[in-house]
Amino acid sequence: MISRAEKCGQTMHLENLRKTGTMISCAREEDAVIVSTPKPIETVLAGLEGESPVFLVGCNLCAAACRVGGERETRAMAEALGLRGLEVAGRRVLDGACNARKTQRDLVSCREELARARSVLVLACGGGAQSVLSALERIGFDRLPVHPGADTLMQAEQSGPADFEQFCSLCGECRLDDFGGICPATRCAKGLLNGPCGGSAGGRCEVFPDHPCAWALIGERLLRMGRLERIERIVPPRPADPRAHPRRLRRS
Ligand code: SF4
Ligand code: SF4
Repeated sequence: MISRAEKCGQTMHLENLRKTGTMISCAREEDAVIVSTPKPIETVLAGLEGESPVFLVGCNLCAAACRVGGERETRAMAEALGLRGLEVAGRRVLDGACNARKTQRDLVSCREELARARSVLVLACGGGAQSVLSALERIGFDRLPVHPGADTLMQAEQSGPADFEQFCSLCGECRLDDFGGICPATRCAKGLLNGPCGGSAGGRCEVFPDHPCAWALIGERLLRMGRLERIERIVPPRPADPRAHPRRLRRS
């Protein structure tokens, strides 16, 4: 029987793997971050119209790693706003904007500057921006508008200083065991749970040729594990979960 990987044009690739044991390596795992990208300055300015002075908030974890909201970027944003005639009431780079307790503690120490501000601009992910909003509400600044200064893209592995790759889309029901440890729901451009699609060439994805085909990776992985027959199994579709969002987890 022809395996799915072979149908996808991976025959030579798999043959080579059988003979040489050579594999396509994944990015080296260094860190996991929430990846965001700065909003265009015009968009930021439109949101802040009539709301000067502005208090700037950055984040020294993920947002700094993405060069969106670290010390350097918040200083640059302060300068950019100043050049466009907006006053900056103050700025603070938080030690992880998504850490509610630390965020509240740090913002308490900025009360004076916050009292002068007419709005807050957060250079961090959407979760961080909402964590800042909640902290501000808890310390009495519940009317201050909180604006996002970044667009949040994904949770990803960081494989280099400016290189991020999404491995997981946080679906809430991990099925990695069905795929040799590689997630097609995230890493296959078509999200195929029963791939491949047949369009891959040379181990690359037909949709995004700069990415490896997730199903080629799955085939290689299963082969190395001596479980290549698993690629033939039909994986049932994921049941729709009407309660997928919002999620909350409390541990005792
Ligand atoms: S199945 Fe994929 S998207 Fe879902 S939790 Fe596992 S790795 Fe993440
Ligand atoms: S990763 Fe790309 S080429 Fe491979 S099965 Fe998915 S869509 Fe097709």
